[in-house]
Formats: sequence, structure tokens, C-alpha cells
Amino acid sequence: MKVTRSQELFERASKLMPGGVNSPVRAFRSVGRTPFFVEKAKGAYLYDADGNRYLDYVCSWGPGILGHAYPSVIEAVQKACENGLTFGAPTEKEVLLAELVQKCVPSMEMMRLVNSGTEAVMSAVRVARGFTGREKIIKFIGCYHGHSDGLLVKAGSGLMTGSIPDSAGVPAGYAAATLLADYNDRESVRRLMEENSGEVACIVVEPVAANMGVVPPEDGFLEFLRDIADENGSLLIFDEVITGFRLGLDGAQGYYGVRPDLSTFGKIVGGGMPLAAYGGRRDVMSCIAPCGSVYQAGTLSGNPIAVTAGIETLKILMAHPEIYNEIDRAAARLEKAYRDIGLMVNRVGSLLSPFFTEEKVWDYKSVLTADTAAFAEYFSWMLEHGIYVAPSQFEAMFVSAAHTEGMIEQTCECVREYGEKLKR
Ligand code: PLP
Repeated sequence: MKVTRSQELFERASKLMPGGVNSPVRAFRSVGRTPFFVEKAKGAYLYDADGNRYLDYVCSWGPGILGHAYPSVIEAVQKACENGLTFGAPTEKEVLLAELVQKCVPSMEMMRLVNSGTEAVMSAVRVARGFTGREKIIKFIGCYHGHSDGLLVKAGSGLMTGSIPDSAGVPAGYAAATLLADYNDRESVRRLMEENSGEVACIVVEPVAANMGVVPPEDGFLEFLRDIADENGSLLIFDEVITGFRLGLDGAQGYYGVRPDLSTFGKIVGGGMPLAAYGGRRDVMSCIAPCGSVYQAGTLSGNPIAVTAGIETLKILMAHPEIYNEIDRAAARLEKAYRDIGLMVNRVGSLLSPFFTEEKVWDYKSVLTADTAAFAEYFSWMLEHGIYVAPSQFEAMFVSAAHTEGMIEQTCECVREYGEKLKR
């Protein structure tokens, strides 16, 4: 595999950007490699600066549910560009996107469009605090909700991959208001609620944890969170930045039938552009300025180009809901291939993670039994066979509508060959 041009670019990048990248996991450090630099992408494939082609199961960490450079999305974006890139004033398209989101996700009675998942969750938590007049929040160890200060505590993949428990630079006071519970452990939530009675503004959770590898909620766990939030006058926030429009048009809340007070969406909702959304109950969202006293704003919020990509993507998904069955089936085939070579696999819809462990993976502690060195070897094998999975044991694999049966079979074959190699 030729890598000279990517190496060259990485050296130049490393002089200018910490680790040579603009987001840590991209640096490939935990798998002991240097990253490839992407030149272009089409459908299920990425092409790097040395002309190598990779079958892509990262899908830009989730947004690429239709595959890369989907023709009608690109065409709509190109056309929108001709009318100007940003106005800082309202547009009809923002209304249209919000209407589509509401149609798919009825709990989104009101919403705000922002630029990233980080902003969406940060703002949702601020609204929860403003609405309840309480300061503390409950989050789960191993769940990632973006890199805002109060949420960057025991926050999953990026930090786990770099063996960093918590980020430096987060004031102790911020972290102290973030109470940590164990995912899928009801008792830990109950205890925190009792010890902080009347002080918890919200419980924020990834309804399917996907930033410590995929860890599904145990039966009844999300319902339990709904009930205990209600009993304590706290709000329930589902961070659907990954699961939104991925597990179905109505996200994890539709998949599991639990209605949160607030939700956050990112990735797919922006169709590959920097866009995210948060929203939910009308009475809660009415707290936001200029209607209420919770402040949140953004120069590029509801950017017309990003909104266009989101609208086109949602329209395609709404017109072709069969996509969800297809990508689920494809992911199920991958799941079987990994299981057949003796790995533990968690899968929910088109999200899956093979874990290099023999233990059932159902919480943060069991995630940590995974052998990251074995994962690194597997990652390199796949990459050298033209298949790109996330460069971390603690990330999900994403299947897109552009992954054909032939591509899935080729991937299963590669996994089987890897299984044979492991036996030798
Ligand atoms: N919430 C979840 C569940 C995520 O997976 C992520 C990013 O991967 C975020 C929030 C932050 O989103 P962004 O990277 O767009 O800031």
C-alpha cells in the first residue's frame, strides 16, 4: 500500500495542528499508525491522497447514511450556494427542515438549529438548568456528549482511546455539577437522585451508548430513566446525535418507545454539513431567548447550505424508509461474520461494534475488558485489505445505503480470513 503522500501531508499537518489533526481520534494513535489523508469520497468508498481506495464503515462518524456525495444532495447544495452562503437572517429552508424533523420526531415540538452536536447538547443542558432552576446533571460514564466543559467527564471514546480519564482545563466546579452514573445500572441512578434530591436538572443519556463501542440499553432501562426523571422533577434528555435518523426516522425514541423531554440531533440531520438541532417540549423550549431568559445564539446557526443538505437527506430517507431495513440486514450479516470468528458483537440496527473480549459487553466495565492491542492488529489488517473501520475499539461501525450486498460479502470474507489468521 502506497502511503508516501499521506505521510508527507501528515508531517506538514503535525507542524501546524496538534497531533496533525482537527479531532483526536483521526490521528490513528491508538492503532499505532499515521492517518491517511482523504482526497475524495463517493458512495461507500473513500479515496486517499496516494490513490488507495477504502470501503468505508466510518461514514464520517455517522452522518453518511446515504453514502458519500449522494447526487441529489450535492446538486441541491450546489444550487443553494449560488444564492449565497450565509445571511444571518431567517430563511424558509430553516422552517422546512424544522417541519421535517418534527414530522419524523413528534417529541420535537420546538427546536433550535445549531452547528454541532457539542453545541446542541451543551444548549439542551443549559435549557434544562434554566427551566428547572437546578444546577446538577446526571450523565453516564462512557457516554460522549461533545466537548463542552461540563460534559467532558468520563466521556467515552476519544478520551478512552487516548487513555485520558478526563480533560485538563475543565474547572473543578463544572465537573462537580456533573454526577456520574453507570450505564445500564439503575441503582447508580437511584442513589444519585436520592443523594441530590431536588437538585438534579436533567438526566442526559445516549439512548444507545455508541461512544464506548455500541452498548444497547438493557430492557426497561430507558423507561426507568423516564420514570425516575419524572418522580424527581428532572428532565430527560436523549442525546440522539448518533441514533437520530439512524435507527429509524424517529431515532432511538421511536425504536424503544420512550419519549424524552428534550433531544439532540446531529450528524445525519445535517446531511454531511455542520448542523445539529436540539429541542423538545414546547414549555421547556419557550425558556430560550428572545422568549425567555436562557441565552443561546449562533452566527451560522441554520446556515442555508447546511440546512439544504439536511432537508435533502431527510427527504430521501422519508421517501425510502426501506433503507432502514436494508442497512439493518447488511449490519446483521456483518454481525454474524464477527460472531463466527469468536468476537463479542453488539448491534442495534445499522450500528455495531465487534469487541475483542470473551465477556458479554453490557456496561462500561465490560467494555474495558476488550483487548485494544488485538483491536489495533485487526484494524491494520482490515485497512490493508481496503476496509476502513473506526481506528478505535470504542467506536461504532456504521453501515450506509451505499454498501451493496457484494461489498458486505467482501467485508465478511475479509473478517473470515482474519479469523483464520487468528487461529494460526
Ligand atoms: N453526542 C454524541 C452522542 C456524539 O456521538 C457526538 C459526536 O460524536 C456529539 C454529541 C458531539 O457532536 P459533534 O462532534 O458534532 O460536536
